[in-house]
Parts: sequence; structure tokens; C-alpha cells
Amino acid sequence: MRVWVLGTGSAGNAVLVESGSTRVIIDAGFPVRELAKRLAGIGVSGDSIEGAIVTHEHNDHVRGVCAAAKRWKWDVYASTGTIAGYPLLREICARPFVAGATLELGDLSVQTVRTPHDGTEPVAVVATARSSGTRAGIVYDLGHVPASYRTTFDRLDILVLESNHDEGMLRAGPYPPSVQARIGGAFGHLSNRRAGMFARDCAHAGLAQLVLAHLSERCNDPAIALSSMRDALARTGFRGVLSAASQGASCGPFTAGRGATALSGGQLSLEL
Ligand SMILES: [Zn+2]
Ligand SMILES: [Zn+2]
Repeated sequence: MRVWVLGTGSAGNAVLVESGSTRVIIDAGFPVRELAKRLAGIGVSGDSIEGAIVTHEHNDHVRGVCAAAKRWKWDVYASTGTIAGYPLLREICARPFVAGATLELGDLSVQTVRTPHDGTEPVAVVATARSSGTRAGIVYDLGHVPASYRTTFDRLDILVLESNHDEGMLRAGPYPPSVQARIGGAFGHLSNRRAGMFARDCAHAGLAQLVLAHLSERCNDPAIALSSMRDALARTGFRGVLSAASQGASCGPFTAGRGATALSGGQLSLEL
């Protein structure tokens, strides 16, 4: 399995997961022209992707999916609530699922997991490769971590995890109190500290890649997020590579094999 974060943050998110000849994209939150450019940058053509899963209806996750689906003939999957929240998905005949359902797409079995976030029916995913058993979790846009996640996201090889804001920077930052309350609330976004608590629960010797995602450009800094996570992972079994993905450029591929990831412009990395 190989995973690329094509970009992540409040201006757009897209994650490509590949196993064997199966390619699935999780979110397409960039305009289709930008998406095509980022895919070309990693040597992937849009029409080689067989399906897209939309995690929720916020613009930074759904923006380009309808145009991309038409252009590249993607099958699009979204929860019933997400389709209700973004009716254009009906026009491209998006296939509805109920959060918690598992979608079978070629070599990938993708379990959807309801997230606590202020979308209608938002989800995270765990993609498992049938051929190799490799497991990747993609978890962003959540205000807190439900207790059940400890078992849902266990034994992962690759984890892409939201580390949205530093709590002090959010309090001191430019947002009005109502926006601060939304971002830091139970249905908003995961802080560096809460991401660290979750990662500590899922960390194990087999976790090869931990990729921080959806970093706020105003209330976070990659160096701060990485250092906070490094501290959280001290004294755990984690022996993999810790990276921070960015908004402006794609990074990856992340693979289950240690040391197999090439550094790219969109990525800061730290070996623990
Ligand atoms: Zn988002
Ligand atoms: Zn969102």
C-alpha cells in the first residue's frame, strides 16, 4: 500500500490510497485543475483512480469532487448525511452509505467511522489492503476522540491524523471568540495535544508512518506540531517516521516499510 497526502488544511484536502492496481481518493477538496496538477506531480492520472470517498460536505473536502468525477468517471461514495448537506453530490449519482459501513473497492476494504465534527454525517476511514493486510487510518476534522477509536484504529501501519492547532496559539490568535469556540470545541478540530493523546493510544511497533494533517496556518506551526507529537510518543512503542503534511504541496508516498518514504517539498519529517 502507498498513501500520498496531496494537500491538507482549511484550503483543501485530498489523500490518495493505492494498493495493487486499486487507487481510491479520500476527499477532493481542491479545484479540479489543481487536483490534476498535484496528481500529475506524483505521476498519477485522474482516470486511473476508480473511486472517491468524501468524508463530509465542508468545502475543503468536497470542492473538486463533482468536476473530477465527471472528468475522470469516478464512482463517488458519501454518507447519506453528506449527500444531504451537499446536494450537488446527487447530480453525479454519488452512492450513499451509512457512517460505519465498509466499502469494498478492488484491493481496498474501506471501513468508514463516524467522527465528532460539525458536518451532517462526517466520517474518518480505515483502508485495509486485501492482498497485504496493510492498514491505513485517515482521521481528520474531529473535535475529540471517542473512546471506541482505541480499538477501531489499532494495528495501523500508516496513520494520517489531524493536528490542527496549538491550544495557546488558538487562544492568542486572530479568530473571534465564536470561531475559536467552534475550532476548539467538541465538534471542531483536534488540537496538537489531543492528537498526541490519541496517537499515544494507537502507537505500536508496527506503526511505520504517522503523518500530521490539517494543520492550521494561523494557529499552528509544523515544528510545534511535530515537537508536541514527539513528546507525546516518548515512551511508547512507536519506532516509525513522523511527518507533517502541508497545504501547498503533495507529500508521500508513505508506505508500511520503514525508510521507504521519499521526502518531498510538502513534508517535514522526523525519525524517532
Ligand atoms: Zn477540513
Ligand atoms: Zn470539516
